[in-house]
Amino acid sequence: MRAATTRYEAAHQAMGTEFTLVAYGDDPQYLTAVGNEVFEEIDRLEGQMSIYKPKSELSVINRTAASRSVCVEPRLFELLVNAVDHSQSTAGAFDVTAGPLMKAWGFFRGKGRVPASSEIAQVLRRVGYRHLHLKLAERTIRFDVEGLELDLGAIGKGYAVDRAVDILRRYGITEALVSSGTSSLYALGAPPGARAWSISLRNPYDSEKAANVIYLRNCSLSTSGNYEKFFKLGAKTYAHILNPSTGKPVENMLAAIVLAPCACDADALSTAFYVMGVERSREYLATHRDLMALFYLPRSRGQGFRSVILRSDGADAIGAFFTKTAERKRRATRKRTSKFFFSPISGAWATAR
Ligand code: ADP
Ligand code: MG
Repeated sequence: MRAATTRYEAAHQAMGTEFTLVAYGDDPQYLTAVGNEVFEEIDRLEGQMSIYKPKSELSVINRTAASRSVCVEPRLFELLVNAVDHSQSTAGAFDVTAGPLMKAWGFFRGKGRVPASSEIAQVLRRVGYRHLHLKLAERTIRFDVEGLELDLGAIGKGYAVDRAVDILRRYGITEALVSSGTSSLYALGAPPGARAWSISLRNPYDSEKAANVIYLRNCSLSTSGNYEKFFKLGAKTYAHILNPSTGKPVENMLAAIVLAPCACDADALSTAFYVMGVERSREYLATHRDLMALFYLPRSRGQGFRSVILRSDGADAIGAFFTKTAERKRRATRKRTSKFFFSPISGAWATAR
């Protein structure tokens, strides 16, 4: 097979982050046209799923589904079914109705605040995927409690990456990397001459340093980290991932990273595993297939951290490979500025921007 001759790179602001696309092919104009279509689709999805846009389909559902059943566009409905499945299978660690909690903690357009326990208790009355009723035959959704809100913040960016990959495949692109900024990515094939895409994960304490290098081929990766969105009050730091069973931000976790065949699942599960911690995630992996998880856990003192890697059945075949320790150390000591950066497995480091 002839090697692709052109490398296309582009970045696009959407969903509160920067999507990036790297793709190889022969014709620069063709790659640009495909890239534009990818970013148009991402904008369309943002217009449909954003809770920051009052006219989005999701905002309309949030305003009306407590008073009547609302018919949902087929693909959004599919995503909601998937989100409810993840909410059920993680016993609510990932909960697609966590929105009101985000607002109470001031993460929605706010600077962050600590609500009183009585307020948390009030808010928890209108949080919980069990209050959602999806009717498959009619494609409708109904809330059985006033004030419930859907928030796709922990699954939508991964879903958008999957839709982008669908478009790339449809146009015959076989070597590409799509990322939703700091959330999720999908590695399609491998760069020319390489066996896999090389992905570096940032050190949880220092965004300039890499903590780990993972090689991916036809596999996705998502991260949920305490360094993404947070506020500080006194000596305490409050991060944007909330435990829906307590109504409070999760503590004692630096990052949960999930590798999975699709980015939508990786995205939802990285948030779920962040909430569940190592032991509950281990139990989850004992009954699910084709997943790998990596945790960065804080040490009791200082800025050290320890890594734990977990694998489910089938994990060896999902297309994710960790570097050997010596290699990892050599690569991880190089300083970088972005959370994800990309390079052919055999070549020099190269960023996607
Ligand atoms: P990122 O946005 O960096 O990809 P995550 O995928 O972990 O990070 O998603 C975090 C977002 O998901 C939050 O900003 C919030 O909108 C929402 N969220 C927070 N806690 C939960 C939870 N327990 N279940 C589902 N969604 C959550
Ligand atoms: Mg995410």
